[in-house]
Amino acid sequence: MGRVIIVTNRLPVTVQKRRGKYTFQPSIGGVATGLSSVCDKQNCLWIGWSGLSKQALDSSAKRSIQAKLAKQHNSYPVFLDKRDVNSHYYGFCNNTLWPLFHCFTQHANYSKQWWESYQRVNELYAKAVLAKVKPGDTIWIHDYHLMLLPKLIREKLPKANIGFFLHIPFPPLEIYRMLPWRKEILAGLLSADLVGFHTYDYVQNFLDSVHRLLGYEHHLGSIVSGENITKVDAFPMGIDYNRFAQATELPQVAQETDKIRQKVGECQLILSVDRLDYTKGILERLDAFSYFLDQNPQYIGKVTLILVAVPSRTRIENYSLLKKQLDEKISQINGKYSEVDWIPIWYLYRSLPFEKLVAFYRAADIALITPLRDGMNLIAKEYIATKKDGRGVLILSEMAGTANELREALIVNPNDKRQISKALRRALEMPVAEQKEHNRIIQKRLQSYDVTKWAKDFLDNLSDLKKAQQKSRTKDLDESAWTKLKKQYRRSQHRLILLDYDGTLVSFVDDPDKAQPDQKLLEIIKSLTDDKHNRVVVISGRDRHTMGEWLQETKAEMSAEHGVWVKEKGRWQKAVDLSSASWMKKIKPILEQYVDRTPGSFVEVKDYSLAWHYRKADPKLALIRRKELLENCAQVTNTLDLDILEGNKVIEIKSADINKGRIASRWLDKRRWDFILAIGDDRTDEDMFSVMPKSAYTIKVGAEHSQASWRVKSVAEARELLENIGV
Ligand code: UDP
Repeated sequence: MGRVIIVTNRLPVTVQKRRGKYTFQPSIGGVATGLSSVCDKQNCLWIGWSGLSKQALDSSAKRSIQAKLAKQHNSYPVFLDKRDVNSHYYGFCNNTLWPLFHCFTQHANYSKQWWESYQRVNELYAKAVLAKVKPGDTIWIHDYHLMLLPKLIREKLPKANIGFFLHIPFPPLEIYRMLPWRKEILAGLLSADLVGFHTYDYVQNFLDSVHRLLGYEHHLGSIVSGENITKVDAFPMGIDYNRFAQATELPQVAQETDKIRQKVGECQLILSVDRLDYTKGILERLDAFSYFLDQNPQYIGKVTLILVAVPSRTRIENYSLLKKQLDEKISQINGKYSEVDWIPIWYLYRSLPFEKLVAFYRAADIALITPLRDGMNLIAKEYIATKKDGRGVLILSEMAGTANELREALIVNPNDKRQISKALRRALEMPVAEQKEHNRIIQKRLQSYDVTKWAKDFLDNLSDLKKAQQKSRTKDLDESAWTKLKKQYRRSQHRLILLDYDGTLVSFVDDPDKAQPDQKLLEIIKSLTDDKHNRVVVISGRDRHTMGEWLQETKAEMSAEHGVWVKEKGRWQKAVDLSSASWMKKIKPILEQYVDRTPGSFVEVKDYSLAWHYRKADPKLALIRRKELLENCAQVTNTLDLDILEGNKVIEIKSADINKGRIASRWLDKRRWDFILAIGDDRTDEDMFSVMPKSAYTIKVGAEHSQASWRVKSVAEARELLENIGV
């Protein structure tokens, strides 16, 4: 496998200048921490901003930093000037995109100057990538800072292998459309081969925006836009589970845990850790905590809330204001409830090193994580991973992407202080056996889909897509191919000619009933069927009466109503034999994702259907997953013409109709053909192309990507080909 070039806004290490010296610190944040552990196990290099502005460096400092980053961290810095740090990072990224994508429209500011800087910085990253990339590399771009990058790279390297992952939510269309540059951003992303999100909701929002704003429909999460085919899917990011689970045994962590416990004495510990960000719901959480103390005075002096707020984006006004409000609220609550030897909130405004953070996780009886909106939230997962003895309760906001996966947690609405207060009480009083029961289920899941599996899953998907794309390279039917085709036609004795009708033999018209064949077309078909060496089949989704009537005067065989009926040797009959089901390849990975996330469930592959069995899974979890699966599959199965059957502890997905692949196989299998021609224009014809032997001439009508080997541009060209094939 080639190298993976990870491109993120920041490198995994941040360079800082302290007393004239440069220091290298690990970068904070989910993306940096998660990907660092992936990078250790892959042949990776990393491109991103070092954390310093261009102006802070002379050229010798720049060189020495570059050398050190390359040697020690396999990292290649992008140097940004101060102006762009301000208007790209603090401006467009965190004052426009961040609030908008988190649905905080009131905080989103729109500035043309920031947008220009966003474009400029994306171009700088593109340059940095182009300087490093080699054939066979995979470029994996991360997050909202770099959404134009896929397009900028694709323009220079049309065949590059490009993946993009968005670590924040993708908002609903009504919100997203508020962005003045909404189309440019979508176009930027659609140049990637694979675009990943944390949840299916974000995937749906994105597909919806693409459809409504750019007019591209998707087919099973794949979008064809010009020369690009982009697959869009959900990959919920995991954590480095073993790192957190094993850290609990480090002596330093044990010491720190003891220190914390000593400090709070007999009190039960509630932990809250976040970057200080308005999306995290910290003020609302404090209100809920205060309400809890109010409603449950018996807990005064018996619980301590440790509130860790990691400084973040302090230069932005909303953030400094939030800091002020937080300080005030904490003093207010501490002032109101404190006793001589107890204060309710122990407040830390700083970033914690790994061991200290794990010690806090370990010491905490409860983690209270209630973001108003959060792409994923790794803290929730990390907390549970450190609970080796199975004790501990997670209270989690339903607005965190993680909530889809951590259903065993106490799920709350972050704006509902009554519900949070009740959850706190329940958590404080939850029997240990129940805590363990919940945590064991979550732990098993987190361990099986950890960050390495997540990254592998994404990269494997990307590589499969690329392979499929390479396989599907459709060439224009040029002069030499055309001559060869005709030559083979003339030489052959047993020819099979499979023709789609609408969009291939006749152009689309507003009223489908008006698409009857013109005289010229009938003549073309007749001249083909008059040749006794030819077997000509017209395959259509139309009803058999219409087809029969329209093509009556030809001797063409037919398949109507998506293959329910076939007309062979002048006689209509119901098609009964079924052949391979290509849709399974697409649905199976979705079901397998549910197997990963629902221990005890499994997928059964039958001849014409796939079944997800969950009899042996935890019934509560299975019920939730079943609902999710039905929701997630509904759209996919609609497009693919599949039926979902809900059985007893099983969901079965089967073909609703016979597809064109099956119909084509019916004729393919009839004998050994020495010439096969299949022509079609739309998605359903791809099924036909996919079952064709290599020797067949498969021809796509139109510009979209296809599995066909050849392409003609229009119905007129397709007809011309058929007219002149024997000439
Ligand atoms: N983190 C850390 N030190 C701290 C607080 C947090 O290293 O003092 C790490 C934490 O381990 C987690 C990440 O920062 O991996 C936060 O990720 P999350 O998805 O919860 O939030 P984000 O900051 O990405 O919005």
